[in-house]
Amino acid sequence: MSEPAPIRTTCAYCGVGCGISATVTGDRAVTIAGDKDHPANHGRLCSKGTHLGETVGLEGRLLHPMIGDKRVNWDKALDTVARRFRQVIAEHGPDAVAFYVSGQLLTEDYYVANKLMKGFIGSGNIDTNSRLCMSSAVAGHIRAFGEDVVPASYADLDEADLFVLVGSNTAWCHPVVYQRIQATRAARGAKMVVIDPRRTETCEDADLHLPIRPGSDVALMNGLLLHLRKAGLLDDAYIARSLSVPDGFWDKLEAESDLWTVARACDLPPATVRRLYEMFAATPRAITLFSQGINQSLRGTDQVNAIINVHLATGRIGKPGAAPFSITGQPNAMGGREVGGLASTLAAHMDFAPENVARVGRFWSAPLMADKPGLKAVDMFRALGEGRIKAIWVMATNPAVSMPDAGNVRQALADCPFVVVSDIIADTDTSRFAHVRLPAAGWAEKDGTVTNSERRISRQRALLPLPGEAKPDWWIVGEVARRMGWGSAFSYERPADIFREHARLSAYENRGKRLFDIGSHAAIGNLAYDEMAPFCWGDRLFADGHFPTPDGKARLVPVTQMTLADPLRDWPMTLNTGRYRDQWHTMTRTGLSPKLARHREEPLVEIHPLDAEVLGLDEGDIARVSTPQGETLFRVALSEGQRRGDIFTPIHWTDRQSTGGRTGLLPRPLTDPNSGQPGFKSTPARVEKVALAWRAFLVVRCAAPRWPAGLWVTRIAVPNGALYELAGDGDPAALEACLPKGQWIETVDKARGGRRIAVLDDGRLSAVLFVTRDGELPSRDWLIAQLAEAQASPLVLAGRAPGVQADRGAVICVCFDIGLRTIMAAIAEKSLADVGAIGKALGAGTNCGSCRPALARILSECQPREAIHAAS
Ligand code: SF4
Repeated sequence: MSEPAPIRTTCAYCGVGCGISATVTGDRAVTIAGDKDHPANHGRLCSKGTHLGETVGLEGRLLHPMIGDKRVNWDKALDTVARRFRQVIAEHGPDAVAFYVSGQLLTEDYYVANKLMKGFIGSGNIDTNSRLCMSSAVAGHIRAFGEDVVPASYADLDEADLFVLVGSNTAWCHPVVYQRIQATRAARGAKMVVIDPRRTETCEDADLHLPIRPGSDVALMNGLLLHLRKAGLLDDAYIARSLSVPDGFWDKLEAESDLWTVARACDLPPATVRRLYEMFAATPRAITLFSQGINQSLRGTDQVNAIINVHLATGRIGKPGAAPFSITGQPNAMGGREVGGLASTLAAHMDFAPENVARVGRFWSAPLMADKPGLKAVDMFRALGEGRIKAIWVMATNPAVSMPDAGNVRQALADCPFVVVSDIIADTDTSRFAHVRLPAAGWAEKDGTVTNSERRISRQRALLPLPGEAKPDWWIVGEVARRMGWGSAFSYERPADIFREHARLSAYENRGKRLFDIGSHAAIGNLAYDEMAPFCWGDRLFADGHFPTPDGKARLVPVTQMTLADPLRDWPMTLNTGRYRDQWHTMTRTGLSPKLARHREEPLVEIHPLDAEVLGLDEGDIARVSTPQGETLFRVALSEGQRRGDIFTPIHWTDRQSTGGRTGLLPRPLTDPNSGQPGFKSTPARVEKVALAWRAFLVVRCAAPRWPAGLWVTRIAVPNGALYELAGDGDPAALEACLPKGQWIETVDKARGGRRIAVLDDGRLSAVLFVTRDGELPSRDWLIAQLAEAQASPLVLAGRAPGVQADRGAVICVCFDIGLRTIMAAIAEKSLADVGAIGKALGAGTNCGSCRPALARILSECQPREAIHAAS
């Protein structure tokens, strides 16, 4: 029998948009490799992309339309959605309904949803979770360039001599871009500066790290611009020809941005600031790459423009290896921007100017065009809570977890008269509030296009058949539109039909006014669409110094550093939030992978050791993090990489995986005034130790029959089952209820209040529960491995067999399952001196490479002090 042919598709996760070569090897089984011919990654994949094959099973999938808890057929579900939306619109007007969509949608899905809301329902109330990721970049681009255009490509990364990474943990969040940067550094000696309040793994190998005070980036960039001006390094000819500079721009900069003022505002040594400025001044080919640390701020748009100002005024734009470069979080945030999936844009890079509304209305033959922007995400859920929105459709996202002030978002969803959720997962924190749930196609079943951070449009191709009654999002939205009375405008038979219309609209009455123009693809045939190769729209943008503004010039935007408040007495810490290397959003997919789960098994609050000491916290304690919006628990991790006074928590955990770690409850629902993007990066907070009477863990085949009772319960997938970490203050005997039926064997340690129970089923291990009040708990690894054995070891209650390594430590290399202690032992025993040597000895870091920054950090921490001094 011949081998199945690989299918070229695109990764499901971040905005790098890596090409994947996927081979279907069985029923819901796919092997994953990097697509060597895809220009975004040339065959590289990070740990998340590498393990996509572990996430295509049907565990937890929503497979049938549901009204409440009742399974219904598609006709009934779609008729109900259409009828209830029509009713609300008839009674309260079109602005009483809303769609909240996602950067996980394909461009074709996005296009149809945007068209229905803005052209037929007649409201601008469609916004996307990309609002939370990069809308400040959108607003900054429009203010500076006149259009939301990213003026860089990944090829520029190969030609730069300096990388300034601002508010971006690139090594974790965009690992393949990070690897490309590292390759350029190795090939041409390019330098890398990281500007980030935290010392992340991205900083490990940096030439310079600036642990900047959160929110002071405008001061730093304005100071850089002034330094370059004083050094005579502005491109005066370019400024005269291509830039519009407001009156008083330079005087204002001069008054506020001297080195000492900047250093004080940023809480950095002046010498460190000067070093950055001199590096930038000496390097014409510089890329400033920015991400959520810049965008997710109450002054995110100003921060974006402060960066762009520097590049514009020095002519470091439109040339090889020189640009400001916004890297997007989600796989298709850019596709959403192209179709107009944000409430603040209309369609195809047009805004709500009357001539644009009229133009799009003509193109769509739309009966009722929205003539003004709709509500942005935070305002949308506020309107929901206030009863102004009475019906909402949430597509492929989980706002009950991911929105700021998520407790109030939940209440708003609970109070809303009609909530529709289309998703691949049956039970999410958001779908619990849904009146109607619609089963959508998942990554491995979707067919369409996505656009990555460099404006490259790639095909995502279906690998597997649609399971159960799941349907593509474009089909679901189109069917609702048809039932609302607009069938002829939504009579698409396949994604190619939608792509052609989208391409036609981008060119419609364009005449060179909008750079987003893919009209050359408007006549693409179905077969050619199926085979379409990845392509970037726009060649080297802005190379001619011409911008899509009325006068053809870009704008230098005056931006001023906002005053940063001192810590509050009751909320003395500053909370920063973000991602982990191996998890994605709310873990609905990555949480299915046992390998990815091992990198960070629990949600941690990272805190500087000196702050922890003041608060009486130790490594591994459970702490309550509170803000005026809410509170939730985290495991404490001491980190020298945190600034004093700052804490960091991850965004991924939900009610499905943990009783704690609910970061979304904590941030304020405050937003940047231009972009509407929430300021997730600096919330006043408090941290307190939680007193616990006992600690425990449960390893169980499949899931526990009942969610364990405890203050602290977290669950991860492990091979053949699940691992629960537990802690509490009541009687741990209540944990017995979470054990499966079977034969019990048990030991009790009265001295330390310990208890160990194993449950066997015909000699095979079903579960182990280890509890202690004062003692130590053993490593979980050997017990987890026992789930694979046909007969449980007689030593199961000992926790390990003789000769088995006690604890390999936290997993660093997920590809080869190698833990921290194993790596440290190999470094010591074999005198390993660099990351390559660790790879040769253990294999770590030799597959996807995502752990290479971590290996570098471990090496530097293992290096004897004398060696460090000698090296420096
Ligand atoms: S960097 Fe990783 S997560 Fe991002 S697209 Fe590439 S493989 Fe996927």
